[in-house]
Amino acid sequence: ASNNKFFVGGNWKSNGTKESIKDLVAGLNAADFDPKHVEVVVAPTFVHLDYVNSIIDKNKFAVSSQNIWIKGTGAFTGEIAAETLQDLGIHWVITGHSERRALCNETNDVVGLKTARALELGLNVIPCVGETLEQRQSGQIFSVLDAQMKALFDRQAFIAVKDWSKVVIAYEPVWAIGTGVVATPEQAQEVHAYLRKVLGNKLGAEVASSVRILYGGSVNDKNCEELAQKEDVDGFLVGGASLQAASFETIIKAH
Ligand code: PEP
Repeated sequence: ASNNKFFVGGNWKSNGTKESIKDLVAGLNAADFDPKHVEVVVAPTFVHLDYVNSIIDKNKFAVSSQNIWIKGTGAFTGEIAAETLQDLGIHWVITGHSERRALCNETNDVVGLKTARALELGLNVIPCVGETLEQRQSGQIFSVLDAQMKALFDRQAFIAVKDWSKVVIAYEPVWAIGTGVVATPEQAQEVHAYLRKVLGNKLGAEVASSVRILYGGSVNDKNCEELAQKEDVDGFLVGGASLQAASFETIIKAH
């Protein structure tokens, strides 16, 4: 961990019932941590956003969507615009999660557009990047990350950001997401340092050191501590383990 404020995101994906979410939020509200030292965001499904936002302790948590539409409100059946999130009092959005890239054909360009759109509307954003196992094994890891980062840099709204506490990059190697195969702390550190270098080349050293870079991929209450010790790991984006309040609390307190 660096000197940056630690950040932990919980990605609930397409999970939860009204009942299970009520219990999960009650568990989270009871979690004992100091929000001065860690920023925590949870991302329920779109249809649960308003409910979670109404019952969660806002002194400790913020609520995020898992996706947004590339445009505003209008004739876009089935999509959710940034304006709609704003109206609900939702101030965070995850963009470019690998499941959306892989399952919904979201290209780097679409992720760049969505990220820019979120920033234009004043939302805080968590763009996700990461390589597949095949890309890692064939030596393409850094070129893949370069292309994913370039799509962000290509958008004026991204490079014009003034307050970089509103942008949190998540490094999520696809081979580690939901697989139980966590990156080693060394593997995470290597990529985080690389991403910081890429940010520095484009935006300057000061921005690069202040942007938080999260690790995501099979983080749990057992492996979080060791990962959190790495210099360039500023926090986590957590899937499976974020559905259990006790595990998530341990991860929140890992820094
Ligand atoms: C994720 O979906 O962002 C994620 C990291 O999932 P998991 O923690 O389950 O690997």
